[in-house]
Amino acid sequence: MGEGAITTTVPTGAATDVEDLARFRVSDLCELLETFLDPEQVAEVYKAYLFAAEAHEGQHRMSGEPYIFHPLAVARVMAEMRMDAKSIVAAILHDTMEDTHVDKARVVAEFGEEVAELVDGVSKLTHLKFQSKAEAQAENFRKMMLAITRDLRVILVKLADRLHNMRTLGVMRPDKRRRIAKETLEIYAPIAQRLGMNAVRRELEQLGFAALYPRRYRVLAEAVAKARGNRKEVLQKIENAINVRLQEAGVEARLASREKNLHSIYKKMKQKRLPFAEVYDVFAFRLVVRDVDTCYRMLGLMHNLYKPVPGRFKDYIAIPKANGYQSLHTVLFGPHGIPIEVQIRTEEMDRVAESGIAAHWLYKAGDSESSRAQARAREWLKGVLEIQQSAGNSIEFLENVKVDLFPEEVYMFTPNGDILELPRGSTAVDFAYAVHSDVGNTCVAAKIDRRLAPLSTQLESGQTVEIITAPGARPNPAWLAFVVTGKARTSIRHYLKNLQRDEAVNLGRRLLDKALAPALTLDEVPPERIEALVKELNLSGLDSLLADIGLGNRMAQLVARRLGAREDDAGSPADTRPLAIKGTEGMVLSFAKCCNPIPGDPVVGVPSAGRGLVIHREACRNVAEYRDKPDKWIAVEWTPEPGSEYPVAVRIQTANKRGALASIAAVIADLGSNIDNVSFDERDGTSTTITFTVSTQGRRHLAAMMRRLRRIPEVMKISRAKG
Ligand code: MN
Repeated sequence: MGEGAITTTVPTGAATDVEDLARFRVSDLCELLETFLDPEQVAEVYKAYLFAAEAHEGQHRMSGEPYIFHPLAVARVMAEMRMDAKSIVAAILHDTMEDTHVDKARVVAEFGEEVAELVDGVSKLTHLKFQSKAEAQAENFRKMMLAITRDLRVILVKLADRLHNMRTLGVMRPDKRRRIAKETLEIYAPIAQRLGMNAVRRELEQLGFAALYPRRYRVLAEAVAKARGNRKEVLQKIENAINVRLQEAGVEARLASREKNLHSIYKKMKQKRLPFAEVYDVFAFRLVVRDVDTCYRMLGLMHNLYKPVPGRFKDYIAIPKANGYQSLHTVLFGPHGIPIEVQIRTEEMDRVAESGIAAHWLYKAGDSESSRAQARAREWLKGVLEIQQSAGNSIEFLENVKVDLFPEEVYMFTPNGDILELPRGSTAVDFAYAVHSDVGNTCVAAKIDRRLAPLSTQLESGQTVEIITAPGARPNPAWLAFVVTGKARTSIRHYLKNLQRDEAVNLGRRLLDKALAPALTLDEVPPERIEALVKELNLSGLDSLLADIGLGNRMAQLVARRLGAREDDAGSPADTRPLAIKGTEGMVLSFAKCCNPIPGDPVVGVPSAGRGLVIHREACRNVAEYRDKPDKWIAVEWTPEPGSEYPVAVRIQTANKRGALASIAAVIADLGSNIDNVSFDERDGTSTTITFTVSTQGRRHLAAMMRRLRRIPEVMKISRAKG
């Protein structure tokens, strides 16, 4: 039995009916706050009340009461948790930025940055809409809420907000009521549990259960009422027996009998398929004592009073539970063999068990800094985390808290409300591949929160991301520089590899055809001759042979000789027509960095193993040695292709005058070119020599640019840099 399955029969002071809440006024709030806040802080809360009352003036809740009662009630929940003044101010203001004309700047001006951040954070959470029907998505949504929230107090205000909305749910339309109840059970109650806030969690569960399954709730409530009457006598008898022992031992302790709440009875019946009587027929007590020593002493006393059930003792003091819960648990054989469950713990442990993280905001004299309270709460979470690690049990809690403390993941919505989890730093491309590899392969742009954004944009938790695809679009090798997920990386590489092979086969065919000409074309080669060669070379087929040629691993001329085989062709003139190339054949064609060829330049292709054809300018020094070795290179020529851009290096000697560089840059930009790089080569008293690497569409474009540059008075000399 978990600590969560229990509720005290003693009223906790929490209001549950609408009438009581409506009667709760700001004077009541201030009175409550005066017990643990400074007078100036209470005054600030009152100021927030006046501010919110004015902002919500004229607004009403569904119940008909003035709207201000809602934020006031939320502040009350926070006050009952003994939260700091800033949280309580934020609780009162929590709906002002949402529902009224008040903006963030105004809240900053009136109440400071910290309060405004809290209110803004709550508004952000309000904007998140959980709409997915898939059960598994609830967990992601909870993580998303925690990931968006930098300040944990935002979550606490949001929980208090939800708690009050649940308490006043009765006035809603039935369908709306069910939706809110379901969301409460799936999202908010588990978050309260993660944060150790059991009192809040229990109430959310109870109210959610009642609203979602009203009939089951009623049947169970009646069964409990009936059974309770039968138990009364036994309960009294056990309580008396324990009290006698306490007095004999001279121990001061708070003893409360506990009764499971309806939701946990329901859950247990459903999960363990037990009948009501078996779940309910358990007597449970809690003993709260002064210190840890007394806890163990009490345990001995209890085991002395009634015989313990073997194997049911749990020491959660020595080994706390994952959410920080500490207590001793034991089960005893009571009168007539009735099982009695007993929890024993200290006041401090009891407070943590009820309030969890909120217990750490408890005001202590001389310690009013809310940032210190926040730090304390984080300490608690961290401590809980360490307990978790050293205890080595379920990693569930660890996973759910780390999004807050160690933000390593981000959570985004798809357009239909599903939530995807990705590593931090993920981009729109990662998102696209996470949706489906086809979506990744054809994506061209992204809409983030309905606004167009580049594919390289890093995503943040809470965003809605829509991927725009285009038929025929394909992955860009440049994406590899910014994707972070393995799936995106592997898919892009895989696609490019296939693409490269297709292009290599294509180029290989053209190279081989050219080498076979004019005697014959590849289609005219007898198939058995091709088959024989493929077999001899130990390849899987003609395509592999062509890909090998295209990638530069095999010389087309050698293959042609093996296939052509007609000796009398040896003397006939070879095909001298150059091979036509396009700049976009990027996978098997590359442009030498040494000479930066551009369209219009006389060029040659040099097959290079594994890289396909590398295109150099004919004048490049690096290919000079090949000039009289015709089997080492291939004549190529440009195919006109508008729009492509190529880098080219231009050397300019300019007078050392102010503004010279600016004029040069302006001319380059004016001609539609980008400057990719600038390097200063030489400088003396009167002139400087600079090499610009600029983008150009070809020789004509470059010539126009150089003509314009020459006209700049400061430019003394200009030339295209040689390889
Ligand atoms: Mn609200």
